[in-house]
Amino acid sequence: MRVQADQDKCASSGQCVMTAPDVFDQREYDGVVFLRTDRPSPEQTEDVRYAALICPSRAITVTEELPRRGGQAGGADRLAAG
Ligand code: SF4
Repeated sequence: MRVQADQDKCASSGQCVMTAPDVFDQREYDGVVFLRTDRPSPEQTEDVRYAALICPSRAITVTEELPRRGGQAGGADRLAAG
């Protein structure tokens, strides 16, 4: 999984940080989101998907990387559009 956060769309509401604090954070001076990592661990993926779902400004985009035959990450399917 890869995650992106569009700082131009972010409304500084903080739901993503409350949902997945190891992945999302907010700038101190204006509360705009920034990523602590763009590749969440398998344990974080459910919370990241939920953060994308509840973001009021749809600023979070999640991209799933599908395994190729042979087990390596390959193509990507976009699941949530920002
Ligand atoms: S939930 Fe969305 S609008 Fe709120 S801080 Fe996170 S990215 Fe910004």
